[in-house]
Amino acid sequence: TKAFFDRIKETEPTIDAFLALNEEKALEMAKALDLKGITPENALAGIPIGIKDNIVTKDLRTTAASKMLYNFDPIYDATVMEKVYQADMIPVGKLNMDEFAMGGSTENSHFKQTKNAWAQTKVPGGSSGGSAAAVAAGQIPASLGSDTGGSIRQPAAFNGIVGMKPTYGRISRFGLIAFASSLDQIGPLTRTVKDNALVLNAISGYDAKDATSAGRLVPDFTEKLDQGVKGMKIALPKEYLGEGIDAGVKEAILKAADTYRKLGATVEEVSLPHSKYGVAVYYIIASSEASSNLQRFDGIRYGFRSENVSTLDDVYVNSRSEGFGDEVKRRIMLGTFSLSAGYYDAYFKKAGQVRTLIKQDFDKVFEDYDMIIGPAAPTVAFGIGENINNPLAMYLADLLTIPVNLAGLPGMSIPAGLSNGLPVGLQLIGKHFDEATMYQAAYAFE
Ligand code: GLN
Repeated sequence: TKAFFDRIKETEPTIDAFLALNEEKALEMAKALDLKGITPENALAGIPIGIKDNIVTKDLRTTAASKMLYNFDPIYDATVMEKVYQADMIPVGKLNMDEFAMGGSTENSHFKQTKNAWAQTKVPGGSSGGSAAAVAAGQIPASLGSDTGGSIRQPAAFNGIVGMKPTYGRISRFGLIAFASSLDQIGPLTRTVKDNALVLNAISGYDAKDATSAGRLVPDFTEKLDQGVKGMKIALPKEYLGEGIDAGVKEAILKAADTYRKLGATVEEVSLPHSKYGVAVYYIIASSEASSNLQRFDGIRYGFRSENVSTLDDVYVNSRSEGFGDEVKRRIMLGTFSLSAGYYDAYFKKAGQVRTLIKQDFDKVFEDYDMIIGPAAPTVAFGIGENINNPLAMYLADLLTIPVNLAGLPGMSIPAGLSNGLPVGLQLIGKHFDEATMYQAAYAFE
């Protein structure tokens, strides 16, 4: 733990991944663990872990990278934190992100700009940019992120590490500051596939405090790691290599498909015809849910309150106007509009119907295949500032990850070589609750 803090101090001036450090408590925990002794059964005991700042941590500042929560010290732990403690892992600090997880570059953080671990002029991706850059830069061996439309997989891809968004319901969302509740899911980011499976083992499982958490048994996700991919049937959707995908990314993914063939799997082209509507559907559903979830930030219950008030209405309006950043306001307006009485049928309801079609595309492919592969993102990491004034371009960057959240499926990104000197992420998409097969395939590739 001490060595990792040294490493954080040495590299933080170039990476800027952390919003808060938990040094004193972490070293205390490590010391207590030394005295207690570590048993081989508990592979994660004493391993430092970083936590995305939208996961609430008791007595440790939790801001979701928003001015709105600049002084929020939670009085309870998220369920995943209880699990982290049960595994004797050591939380070392809170990681930067896009404000309320809205974004794909960590440029929407109110506090700082995290840099890509490979090139300081490039974004680390987002919204879990701090979680990915910190692991890639060797500041920590593992972190937790959250993924609503790609926020674990895309930053993992941009930093050349392993990131897993588990099946919706696999991990409790209790204590995850909600963005879009029907899509949000917490997951691990690590350097290796095995580490990732171990962390998922530790944080999964039913939780009575989350009504959407699944009452499923949690298998040992490391169990099938050594089994290889001989005979596995893998699908490659043609829509995932079409328009808008960089040539270098496409090349790396086709090469990965060949690697799987050489390892004994079959890889065949399939179609997900409705995936092209994913981005449109997502920005209606996610923004609608966000506009509702973010109503609680009213200047009274949490964090920031405007000084500039004379009436109660001023407290609400001015606190929200001054406390939220532009992207968050954009989503609240979009969501409020699509939920409004006159437009509900045309937008929110329609989006729900198309969401079902997107899910059915996947169901159909999974009748014949064990897994789907494709790129995690259409490009490698882009430059800091490059897309900041073009929200639409930013939204389109999620087109390969979003359908997976809409269908509630597990998706992960693993390193698949370089393009222009920057990492490309191979996305693996599995059947509901079949993360073990994805780890098996990821391990064979690694
Ligand atoms: N980039 C997407 C968005 O801005 C996804 C974010 C996420 O998964 N939290 O909504």
